[in-house]
Amino acid sequence: MEYRLGLIYGDGIGPEIVREARKVLDKVCEKFNHTFHYEELLLGGASIDVHGVPLTEETIEKAKASDAVLMGSIGGDAATSPWYQLEPSKRPEAGLLGIRKALNLFANLRPAYLYQELKDACPLREDIIGDGFDLMIMRELTGGLYFGERKTIEENGVRKAIDTLTYDENEIRRIARRAFDIAGKRRKKVTSVDKANVLDSSRLWRKVVEEVAAEYPDIELEHMLVDNCAMQLVRDPAQFDVILTENMFGDILSDEASMVTGSIGMLSSASLNDTKFGLYEPSHGSAPDIAGQNKANPIATILSAAMMLRYSLDLDKEADAVEAAVQKVLTEGYRTVDIMSEGCKLVGTKEMGDLIAEAV
Ligand code: NAD
Repeated sequence: MEYRLGLIYGDGIGPEIVREARKVLDKVCEKFNHTFHYEELLLGGASIDVHGVPLTEETIEKAKASDAVLMGSIGGDAATSPWYQLEPSKRPEAGLLGIRKALNLFANLRPAYLYQELKDACPLREDIIGDGFDLMIMRELTGGLYFGERKTIEENGVRKAIDTLTYDENEIRRIARRAFDIAGKRRKKVTSVDKANVLDSSRLWRKVVEEVAAEYPDIELEHMLVDNCAMQLVRDPAQFDVILTENMFGDILSDEASMVTGSIGMLSSASLNDTKFGLYEPSHGSAPDIAGQNKANPIATILSAAMMLRYSLDLDKEADAVEAAVQKVLTEGYRTVDIMSEGCKLVGTKEMGDLIAEAV
């Protein structure tokens, strides 16, 4: 098959890690007989350097014309980079918010998977980790408290701030369907997280999720209150498959879930809209402190590319092959510096990419 893929190399370590992911994708093409047509898109600091702004119409149009976009991270060191002398709306991060909005990316997916080989980095006790965990957080990204009406007023000399949490049933339904679809490709369980004992928005959330669940009879649905979920993530993370939740709860829970894996260089992510299109990127930033030194771990980006194969291109076998290749290279003891431990073999960014491509 033929696909059109956008590549955003980005800033800092971005170009190094995207190059390695591309190497792995090329290997997938060779092995499975596909053709990927790559189109380079500028975003963030790299776009400021060329166009003076972090996002252009050209980038948006090229992204829309792609089946999916793979991105390294964007941004620089705020203390030293000239990008941060610009007004906030012209800085690199504004480009990222802008492209998410322009492409209507309302569903954010963040997996938290514990590799047995890296379990020393996991801050949880051995008896809690057990055989490891493999969960996916599906966070609503364009509604809720962060996008509601807000204001700060003064009443009788007392300052008062108001934020509004709004969801309509369509916003809930579209993300719930996405979560059930993804659970269908996994272990077939959705945990919908809310605060239905207090919030009206959560009570509507629960009702609509139940309506959607009726369309997916082979997928198990459970509801969990957000405070309980925060506890369960550190008490027994293996109980979860897909966690479906609204914007603010997802913001907090996805950071908690990623920290329990302990390895920032390993964590992938995706942002999806209501077509097959997605923007795939590592969860970490552009690590300007190690940029250009062949030290960055490319695995988060390579695993993001695997998510792209699975969720935007429906190439499950190919995604499995990439994930198995990462697993194989870790089992053989190869490590970049961020995940290095005693007795393992230290490799650079490029060597790690070569090893994974070879293992595909
Ligand atoms: P960061 O994630 O870039 O770095 C935090 C620490 O983790 C650093 O010590 C870094 O060296 C290390 N690290 C990160 N990724 C690594 C990898 N793949 N391999 C090895 N080590 C890795 O976070 P930060 O320093 O707070 O932010 C740096 C820049 O990245 C800022 O400009 C920030 O705005 C931007 N940022 C971008 C995104 C994004 O593009 N989505 C996300 C977060 C931060």
